[in-house]
Amino acid sequence: MNQADLAQAGTADAAASQVPDLRNIAPVGYFMLDASGLIEDANLIAARLLGRDHRALLAKPFAHFIGQEDQARFAQLCQMLRDGGGPQSCELRVAPPGHPAFWAHLIVSTTRSVTGVPLVMLLLSDITEHRRNAEEIYRLAYYDPLTGLPNRRLLLDRLHQVMLASSRNGLHGALMFMDLDHFKLVNDRLGHDMGDLLLQQVSERLKSCLREGDSVARMGGDEFVLLLGALSSNGAEAANQAKVIAEKILTALAQPYHLQEQIHSGTASLGIVVFTDEQGDAEMLLKSADAAMYQAKNAGRNQARFYDPAMQAAVAARAELEQDMRQALLRHEFVLHYQLQVDKAGQPIGAEALLRWNHPRQGLLAPASFISLAEESGLVLVLSQWVLESACAQLVEWSRHVGDVLCAMAINVNTLQFANADFVAAITSALATSGANPKLFKLEVTESMLSGKMTDLVGKMNAIRALGVRFELDDFGTGYSSLSHLKRLPLDQLKMDQSFVKDVLNNDTDPAIARAIVALGHSLGLKVIAEGVETAAQHAFLADIGCDAFQGYYFGHPMPAAEFRALIGKRSASHQTQGD
Ligand code: C2E
Ligand code: MG
Ligand code: MG
Repeated sequence: MNQADLAQAGTADAAASQVPDLRNIAPVGYFMLDASGLIEDANLIAARLLGRDHRALLAKPFAHFIGQEDQARFAQLCQMLRDGGGPQSCELRVAPPGHPAFWAHLIVSTTRSVTGVPLVMLLLSDITEHRRNAEEIYRLAYYDPLTGLPNRRLLLDRLHQVMLASSRNGLHGALMFMDLDHFKLVNDRLGHDMGDLLLQQVSERLKSCLREGDSVARMGGDEFVLLLGALSSNGAEAANQAKVIAEKILTALAQPYHLQEQIHSGTASLGIVVFTDEQGDAEMLLKSADAAMYQAKNAGRNQARFYDPAMQAAVAARAELEQDMRQALLRHEFVLHYQLQVDKAGQPIGAEALLRWNHPRQGLLAPASFISLAEESGLVLVLSQWVLESACAQLVEWSRHVGDVLCAMAINVNTLQFANADFVAAITSALATSGANPKLFKLEVTESMLSGKMTDLVGKMNAIRALGVRFELDDFGTGYSSLSHLKRLPLDQLKMDQSFVKDVLNNDTDPAIARAIVALGHSLGLKVIAEGVETAAQHAFLADIGCDAFQGYYFGHPMPAAEFRALIGKRSASHQTQGD
C-alpha cells in the first residue's frame, strides 16, 4: 500500500487532517479498546491482520479474535492491567473467525482519551515466521535430522532433569547405551541409503518400546541412548525394571527389517547403568553405559550388560588418567627408555626407544596403561611427535660421543601417526632439525597399520626410506600380513614377536614358527630380530636357527639414556677385552 492510500484509508482523525497516520506506517496492528474490551479504533495493519475491513472491527470485543487455547491467558493479561500492573506483553495465538490462526506478540497498556475516559491501547504483531525460524533453529540444535530423535545435547539436558527429579523423589533412573551389531556391514554391503533406512526403522522400534516420559536419543552413527526415569526407589527393583525394558528392546530389534526389497536381520548390544542423583555426573553416566555396552559386545553381542561398580571405578580412573595426560607433556613427565639390541656376536647394534610416563602419583607407567587412552583422546599425535623429536635428539647426543659404538635407534610408530597426512613431513623435519643421521634411524610398524590402501602406504614408506630411514615390522607373526603384501612393502627387518620366543623351548609349535619366520624373512631379503629373549638357552636356539639380531631382558631391560650409555660402554669394553 502506498503513502497516498494510507493517508486516504487511515483512521477518521487522520483522514480529517489529511496527514498520513504514523499508526498505519508502523508494521504493527494498533487497537484502542474501551474499558469493557470493545474495539474503538484500529489501524489498517490491525484490520489486515484480522482479515477484516477496519470499520467492521469497531465495537467488536477484541477477545473474540483470540484463539481458544489462549483465552484464559488473555483474560489474565487484562486483569493484570486492571490491577494497575503497568504495560504487559505476551505471545499468544490469534484466531480471527474464518481466517487462519497465527502467532502474535501482544503489548497492552492503559491510557486515557482527551476527555479523560480510560482506554486500553493494544499493539499486535504477527510473529509466526519468527517462531517458525526459532523452532527450526531449536530442531537443528537439539534433534537428529535423520531419525528426528533428540540428539546428544537434548539427551544430556533431559538426563539432568531426570537426575534432578531423582534427587527430589528418591526414584532411580536408568541410562542405556545401544549400538547395533555389525552395522558397518550394512553400509558396506547394502549402501548408505539402506543404512539410513535401517537407522530410521530402529529408531521407530526403540520409541515403541519406551514408556511415556522416557526418551530415546541418537548419539551419532548407530549409537542410541535410552533414558528411563521414575524407576523404583529400590536399586535392585529398578535394575529389574530396566532389564525388562532392555529385553523388550533386544527382541524388537532382532525382528527382520524390510529395507526396500531386502529383508535384513540384525541385533544390538546394550549397556545399562542404573542411577540416583548421587552419581551426579551426567557425562560419567554416559561413559559408564558405554563401557557396559562394550562388555555386552565382548560377551558375544545381542545382549544387555549392567555396569558394575568395579567397572565404574576403572572408568573413573581412566578419566582421571586422561586428565593427567593433558598436563603430562607440559610437565615433562614422559621419558624414553632404551633397550639394547645386539647382533649375532653379542655386539650392541642399537636400541629400541620405549615410552614411559613418570606419573606423579602412580610412578613409572608402561605404554600398555596409557597408549590406548592417548589414542582415544587424540593426544597420541602430540605424544608421538614428542617421541620422534626426543629420539632424534638422543641419537644426535650419542653420535657426539666419540668412542661410542655407532648405535641405531628404533622408535615405535602409532597407527594414527602413520595414517596422518603429515607423517612423511614430520619425519623429514624431525631429522633435518635435529641433525640426526637417518641411516641410524628405524621405524617400527605393525601389521595392523599396514591394512590401508597399498599404494598410499608404499608411497609413504618409500618417501621416508629415500631419506635413509629403515623400516621394521614389529610383533611379526601376530597379525594378518599376506605374503604378497609383505613382498611389496619396503621393509628391512622382521621382528619376531616375543610370544614365539617365550615358548620356543617349551613346545613343538613355537620352534617351528620361529624357524618359519626366519626362513620367510631371509627369503624376502629381510633381516630377522627376535624380541623378548630372556635366557641364554633361548638366545642359543634363536642364533642356531639363523636370527640376525636379538633384544630382551637377557641383554638388558629398557633403561634411562644415561644407564644405557654406560651399558654400551661396558659391553663394548668387555667385547674388546675378549677380542684381545
Ligand atoms: P613392542 O614395540 O613390542 O616393545 C617390546 C615390549 O616388550 C616392551 O614393552 C619391552 O619392555 C618388552 N620387553 C622387552 N624385552 C622383554 C623380555 O625379555 N621379556 C618380556 N616379557 N618383555 C620384554 P613396553 O615398553 O611395555 O612397550 C609395550 C608396547 O608399547 C611396545 O611393544 C610398543 O608397541 C608400545 N610402545 C612403546 N613405546 C612406544 C612409543 O614410543 N610409541 C608408541 N606408539 N608405542 C610404543
Ligand atoms: Mg617395538
Ligand atoms: Mg614388539
